[in-house]
Amino acid sequence: MEAPLQQIKDPLLEEHQLSLWVKREDLLHPHISGNKWRKLKYNLQVAREQQKTALLTFGGAYSNHIAATAAAGKEYGFSTTGIIRGEEHLPLNPTLSFAASCGMELHYISREEYRKKQEPAFLQELKEQFGQPYIIPEGGTNALAVKGCTEIIEDIAIDYDYVCCASGTGGTTAGIIAGLAGNKKILGFPALKGGEFLQQEIEQLITSYNGQMYRNWQLITDYHFGGYAKVKPELVDFIKAFQEQHQVPLEPIYTGKMMYGVFDLIRQNYFPRGSRIVAVHTGGLQGNAGFRERLGIVV
Ligand SMILES: *Cc1c(COP(=O)(O)O)cnc(C)c1O
Repeated sequence: MEAPLQQIKDPLLEEHQLSLWVKREDLLHPHISGNKWRKLKYNLQVAREQQKTALLTFGGAYSNHIAATAAAGKEYGFSTTGIIRGEEHLPLNPTLSFAASCGMELHYISREEYRKKQEPAFLQELKEQFGQPYIIPEGGTNALAVKGCTEIIEDIAIDYDYVCCASGTGGTTAGIIAGLAGNKKILGFPALKGGEFLQQEIEQLITSYNGQMYRNWQLITDYHFGGYAKVKPELVDFIKAFQEQHQVPLEPIYTGKMMYGVFDLIRQNYFPRGSRIVAVHTGGLQGNAGFRERLGIVV
């Protein structure tokens, strides 16, 4: 499994004398996509060491992490339970239907109850109810996930100055920052509105992983497009054009916003001339089927 670097050729890059590569983490695995594979890797290893046979995790109805955990359970021999936020809707959407086809047991809880997803007493209840599973937090983010995400930048064989990546819980960004250990500059693009809260979140994740503090990173909070899973026509147009010109498929929740932001920053002369930029494609393309189905949006 490899995540090659793909160089992007674009007149805008030439005009600003910049070089851009996409790190194609989306190509790591057909179903355990991108950063979700990196985040699961050491969690699965520890689950096995603890002789667990079941995994339990949390997510919304279109969650990339739910799809990835279901596929990983099937491939590596764990039974899986997905605690899904909200009510069941039948027929299942493409994400949940894929998860169910991998053998994941779907268990729906109210949004209210879902908020307890990190409370020890609630987790204890779930453990008893679902056969003492290995519990993976929402989005797959914990210290072991940060460790896995440090490996995203390990096989980049070129010289570069910046790494850009989309941020949800911040686990992936934390891993990249920790992996670079003070080198280069990392830009995280929060998919959520009010992404400033991730500053502290990411600092804590890095501390929990290796006890370090780094200053060579920044959150770029202007490209949430109204918030998580809000889809704006100009973003959809950008994604379509990008796919056409560069043969790189994106999705509108994470990678599309990040890449839109990178191009906008280039236009604003954010990057000094001569900079070499690596944008991480964190995957998530399974979610596009849900957009097609729900909104008739083709990306
Ligand atoms: C989950 C996800 C992210 C966010 O990763 P975090 O580690 O939660 O910040 C980014 N991109 C894609 C495609 C994802 O599926």
